[in-house]
Amino acid sequence: MLYDAPIDHDPRRHYTSACEEKEAINVLIVDDSLTIRSELRKHLVRLEKVTVLETSTLAETRALLDGQHHSLFCAILDLTLADASRGEIVDLVRSHGVPVIVLTASMNPEIRRAVLETRVIDYMFKNGKNAIKDVAYLVEQLRQNQTMKVMIVDDSITFRQHLAGMLAQYRYPILLATNGREALTLLEQHPDTALVLTDYHMPEMDGLGLVRGIRRRYRREELAIIALSQAHEKELSATMLKAGANDFLNKDFQAEELYCRLVQNTNMVHFVRQLRDLINLDYLTRLYNRRYLFQVANLLHAEASARPGVLALAMVDADYFKRINDSFGHSAGDEALKHIATLLRRTFQHTDIIARYGGEEFVCVVTADRPEDAWHRFDKLREDIATTPLSFEGATIRMTVSIGLTTVLGNSLTEMIACADRAVYRAKAEGRNRVVLEP
Ligand code: GH3
Ligand code: MG
Ligand code: MG
Repeated sequence: MLYDAPIDHDPRRHYTSACEEKEAINVLIVDDSLTIRSELRKHLVRLEKVTVLETSTLAETRALLDGQHHSLFCAILDLTLADASRGEIVDLVRSHGVPVIVLTASMNPEIRRAVLETRVIDYMFKNGKNAIKDVAYLVEQLRQNQTMKVMIVDDSITFRQHLAGMLAQYRYPILLATNGREALTLLEQHPDTALVLTDYHMPEMDGLGLVRGIRRRYRREELAIIALSQAHEKELSATMLKAGANDFLNKDFQAEELYCRLVQNTNMVHFVRQLRDLINLDYLTRLYNRRYLFQVANLLHAEASARPGVLALAMVDADYFKRINDSFGHSAGDEALKHIATLLRRTFQHTDIIARYGGEEFVCVVTADRPEDAWHRFDKLREDIATTPLSFEGATIRMTVSIGLTTVLGNSLTEMIACADRAVYRAKAEGRNRVVLEP
């Protein structure tokens, strides 16, 4: 029987969103063929936020690397250059700590050895049908890897360092733990971890204990686990897979196999995150949507009376928002909503629920010691919005919000929302840009 944790919607649980914002990167191309360089450049710039640097010889590359002030994300290298025909370029670029992809005319034992020694991420053949496109795809994959945290759990420092070196090259953010217990503690601090690579034999808590511990909280598609072990321990793989590991890898793996499994597993987690975002987040602001608000806030409401402090619900409504659209255009209005969302996110913690309720209305559900404390927090938010204008295409857009707040639980979440809504009406009637606590 495969064990899977139940899907829960515990509102205090960390929500891990798929990262949407692409980071700007610099990619170096070293090739003596102008045609290859321009084809590569064409495909790379299509990826957005990619700056391409080009050289055609070893000497030129050395000069560029020595004088390089901005960091290189990766390099695409030709092995045969006019002044270095035997792949010397790989050593030079690697010595600057830059991950390498090889685009070569032919395969020889030297390249293969370089790959096996993990000095290069991957290699493609120039005459391959989609080689140039594949290189661009690989660069984009590396950029995505940067958003997927991977934890290495092994009691052997040598093996941890070996794996960490390889994963750093693949651009994964890395977390290290020496046994299962340490890994679970680290996971509490990094609930957004995408993949755990774990050994079996470890002191304190072994790999099996760790897999079981993880699966009490995370489903297979939320956090992937690759179990590592020695070749002779065949029966272990089935045990680990049944306990909840997604995949299994022999410790004397080849670099290529490791990378394929890493990508398959982290991509699966990434796609699931994207899917969940589509269901739960508002497209424009990336705050929770109304559907998700009801799903999680209903649970908070149901538990609230049994907990200390108060549950506060606020309706935040932008003032005269129509005027922003009318004066600056609809895209300015969209930016203004994103601006408010950013300020909301900055004010509250991840355990609070902030959602886009409707057009220019947001609902926040937070906990506080006393109603007055909640009022002060929202008044601070109101002030932040009023004093932080948005710059949009040369214009300065100022905005204010009216906030209706309630800490009376009533019979349901819907009742709380209705109460906050009445408070918004009062705030509007009393002159806007204020927080009204109801009743
Ligand atoms: P009040 O102070 O009374 O709340 O005035 P208001 O103009 O903010 O309120 P009203 O409800 O009359 O108008 C809300 C406006 O918000 C109308 C609508 O076009 C705009 N709006 C709603 N959703 C969006 C959106 O996604 N993008 C943009 N640009 N505007 C939006
Ligand atoms: Mg409104
Ligand atoms: Mg409004």
